[in-house]
Amino acid sequence: MTIELPGFLRGAAKGLLIGGEWVPARSGATFESINPSTGAPIVSVAAGDKRDVGDAVAAARRAFEGPWRRFTPAQRQNVLLQLADLVEAHSHELGLINAVDMGVPVARQRGGAAVEALRYFAGWATKLHGETIPNSARGNLFAYTRPEPVGVAGAIIPWNNPLPATIWKIAPALATGCTMVLKPSEEASLTPLRLGEIIQELDLPPGVINIVTGFGETAGAALAAHPDVDKIGFTGSITTGRLIVKAAADSNFKRVSLEMGGKSPDIIFADADLASAIPAASLAVFGNTGQVCIAGTRVFVERPVYDEVLDGMAKVAASLQVGNSLDPSTDIGPLVSAAQLERVTGYLDLAVAEGAKAVTGGARLSSGGLADGYFVEPTVYSEVHDDMRVVQEEIFGPVATVLPFDDVDEVIRRANNSRFGLAGGVWTRHLGRAHQVAHAINTGMVWVNTYGSVDPAVPFGGAKSSGWGNELSGHILQEYLNIKAVWINTE
Ligand code: ADP
Repeated sequence: MTIELPGFLRGAAKGLLIGGEWVPARSGATFESINPSTGAPIVSVAAGDKRDVGDAVAAARRAFEGPWRRFTPAQRQNVLLQLADLVEAHSHELGLINAVDMGVPVARQRGGAAVEALRYFAGWATKLHGETIPNSARGNLFAYTRPEPVGVAGAIIPWNNPLPATIWKIAPALATGCTMVLKPSEEASLTPLRLGEIIQELDLPPGVINIVTGFGETAGAALAAHPDVDKIGFTGSITTGRLIVKAAADSNFKRVSLEMGGKSPDIIFADADLASAIPAASLAVFGNTGQVCIAGTRVFVERPVYDEVLDGMAKVAASLQVGNSLDPSTDIGPLVSAAQLERVTGYLDLAVAEGAKAVTGGARLSSGGLADGYFVEPTVYSEVHDDMRVVQEEIFGPVATVLPFDDVDEVIRRANNSRFGLAGGVWTRHLGRAHQVAHAINTGMVWVNTYGSVDPAVPFGGAKSSGWGNELSGHILQEYLNIKAVWINTE
């Protein structure tokens, strides 16, 4: 392997971006970022806490009330377009950083999605407007609305896709005129930090975008509880989402949007084009080592084709090259951390204890030079039932559970038998049934005869315990805006 790694991955501890300056944590504390392919430390990162979050929020408030407020919509649009160009120019470097820090294989990086999202939200900056509203109130009154930025937005993001996750928060904030304090995941801080350096190349007032790295219980909790943060966007686990809602209620009722994962059903009918369905349903589980909130991990297969799909998915799983993220032939990299490895292998043990049968996979992978990394085999389970924990709980690893079904009403009921409601898939050539099932599944997204497409113009969000609100699209902008009604007495 002769890939030259970015200089960013070496050197002194990475600081926090507060008010346009890179600063150490006030406590001086740092933590190590770890390469999950090798278990080796990469570089250390500042561990911010409540005091640093306080500094960052104060800087964001100053920027919001100062120069950033005077940026015209066209200027904000230009900021986003310039950032898109910079991210595009640095996409190879950002991909390498992500490969080393988070473990996404170099061959599987999708930096283009972040660039597209920036360009999409750039367009919105100049298209946000209020309404004049004919009203019937007493007197001669003229009423209009103004969409106003909520102010300081907080963002707490997970590790599984740090570049898009960061952009999905920053872009609507900039488009609407908010300022932001971003708390990356302690498992994957380096890509957001390098993005912070890139943002510094823009002609932005200091404090518009601030980044506080650190742990969830300290930096994240402080951001969620801060009384001068007007909105918080969170992506992560249900457990943390619940704490964030409580912290918002206990502080200032800051607005909260949540995206909290899933256990999504992918339903394959016997009439489906199996040559498309089998590889797509497989990649919907194994892609990004299963560390994908929309992963279609509950694969329901109509009984006549059950064996064929099970066998086909097992073959796809076994054919995937698992390895170091920097190896260009790698399809599936490691899990992000030792903790995640422990969690996923815990579920592999549980599956056996619950009576599931591993048709392929089912174990940690430590041969072939992988012993120090956090690798698991892509795994397909049969002999599973809806009430097993491995079928109900989000594993966040490359683990498919494949369940037979007999009729459409049954599969709709079973697909909806989940606390989650993020996404779902339907594979059939029967047009009416495709619509029927797509409408009946209680999720925020459904794909028919495809799986996992995402576009910045299309809402991305979940029902039930998968979250509140949508990311992307015009809908997310409402989360960053207050609508003010203005009344004018025209007499
Ligand atoms: P995951 O299992 O995907 O890591 P988490 O919910 O633990 O999900 O983490 C997602 C993000 O939430 C991370 O940035 C993490 O640091 C942060 N986080 C974790 N605990 C808290 C907390 N108590 N308050 C606020 N943020 C937290």
